[in-house]
Amino acid sequence: MSDLNKLSIIEAGKKLAAGEITAALLADACLAEIEKRNPSLNAYLEVFDDVLEQAKKADERRAAGESHPLLGIPLAIKDNILIEGRRAGAASKILENYVASYDATVIKKLKDAGAVFLGRTNMDEFAHGSSTENSAYGPTKNPHDESRVPGGSSGGSAAAVAAHMALGALGTDTGGSVREPASFCGVVGLKPTYGAVSRSGLIAMGSSLDQAGPLARTVEDAELIFNTIRGKDPLDSTSIGMENFKSQTANNKKIGVPRTLLAQGLDADVLQQFEKSLDILRAKGYEVVDIELPQASLALAVYYVIMPAEVSANLARFDGVRYGLSLKGESLVDDYAKTRGEGFGAEVRRRIMLGTYVLSSGYYDAYYGKATAARAELAREVAGVLQHVDLIATPTTTTPAAKLGEKTSDPLAMYLMDIFTVTANLTGNPAISVPMGTVTREGKELPVGMQLTAAHGDEPALFAAGKLLQ
Ligand code: GLN
Repeated sequence: MSDLNKLSIIEAGKKLAAGEITAALLADACLAEIEKRNPSLNAYLEVFDDVLEQAKKADERRAAGESHPLLGIPLAIKDNILIEGRRAGAASKILENYVASYDATVIKKLKDAGAVFLGRTNMDEFAHGSSTENSAYGPTKNPHDESRVPGGSSGGSAAAVAAHMALGALGTDTGGSVREPASFCGVVGLKPTYGAVSRSGLIAMGSSLDQAGPLARTVEDAELIFNTIRGKDPLDSTSIGMENFKSQTANNKKIGVPRTLLAQGLDADVLQQFEKSLDILRAKGYEVVDIELPQASLALAVYYVIMPAEVSANLARFDGVRYGLSLKGESLVDDYAKTRGEGFGAEVRRRIMLGTYVLSSGYYDAYYGKATAARAELAREVAGVLQHVDLIATPTTTTPAAKLGEKTSDPLAMYLMDIFTVTANLTGNPAISVPMGTVTREGKELPVGMQLTAAHGDEPALFAAGKLLQ
C-alpha cells in the first residue's frame, strides 16, 4: 500500500485495528518521506535510530490485545520535550550534549498509548520566535514554499506534519508557537487550557504561559492527541483535571468577532478567507456577532514584558555547571559569562536582558507590576465576553508566511506577528488554529488559519466548530 504516511491518524488507526497495515509499514512510509524531504526542509534535527523497533513493539502490543487509537502511530516531537535517554536541546548550542534523564509526562502518556516517536523537530531556540529562524541549527523551510518560513517556534513539528513526514506532532505554545506554524503550514494546532496538559518535562520558557499541544492534519486527530496527553499530574502542581471545569452546553453556537482588533494591519486576502470561513460557520447554524475586546490591543505589550521576565528566571539554570555546554573563564563569574554568552543565541540573550530589566528593583513597578495588572484585566475582559458568546474568532496571523530572512533583522516586526495569539496564553483560555484556505503569493498557494478561542476547559467547543471548517 502506498502513501500510508498521508493517512490521517484516525484512518491509520482504523487500518491498524483491522489488521490491514502494520505500525512497521506506517513508520517505514514516514521514514521514506523524511529521507526525501527533510534534507531540504530541515524539520527534524534528529531522526531516532530505533523507529522500526518501536513500531514492531507496537505491533506486538496489538497482537497481544491492546487497542489504543494511537498504538503504532508515528509522531514527531519538538526538541524541548524530554524523552528519556534521548538528546533534547531546545535547538540551542547551550544544550548541545544534554541527554534527558526522564520522560516528560506527555511523553509517558504517549508511550503508554503506544505512539511511535520518529525524531525531534527543529524550533526557535528555547521557543523564542515566530519563524524557526532562531534555531542554532538553521531554519526549517515551509513545505508549501521553501523560500518561506514555516512559522514558529514549533516550525519543525508543523512542517513535518504538513509534508507528511509524520502523522501528527507535539509542539509547545507560550504565545502562539503551536497555532502560528499550524496556520502557515496548513495544519491544525491546539493550545490547550492552561493546566490541562502537564508541563513536567518541558524545557520551560514562560511557566505561566506554556502549554504543550498537538499539531495534526485534522481536528479529529488533534482532539485524539489532546485527549491522550491531558490530565492532572502530581509532577505539575499547576495541572488540572478537565472535570474541574463546568460542563458547557453541547450547543455552542455563538461566535464573537473583535472587529476593532482586526483593523490592525490585517492583510486583505487573509481577511477575505476569514470572512469566507465565518460564512461556512453561519451556514452551519452559528450566529456571528461583533464584540469589543479593548484590552486585547495591549496584549502584545503585556506579553513582551511578562514572557521575558519568566524567560530570564527559567534560563538562569543554564550556567555551564548543571547542564550542557561548559566554558572555562578566568573566574567562576567569567565561566558563567562565557558559557552563557557563547551558548545562547542573540534572541535568547535579548530576552534575558529584557526580562532582567523589567524585574529589576527600579523598574519592577513600572513594567512587571503594570503588566501583571493589565493581564488580570485582560483575563476578566475575555471571561466576560465568553459569557455572551461561546467562541471568539480571529485569523491566527495577520499575513501568510513571510520569506526566510524577511523579518530577522527587525525583532519588533517579528513580535508583531503574535498579535492575535498571545491573548489566550495570558488568559489561559484554550485556542485552536484550523486551516481556512490559502492566499496566493508569487504563484504559490500559502495556507492561513482561523483561530477560535473558548472558555477554560471548553476544548470540545473548539473541536466542534473546527470540524465544520475543514
Ligand atoms: N512568537 C512568540 C514569541 O516569540 C511565541 C513563542 C512561543 O509560543 N513559544 O515569544
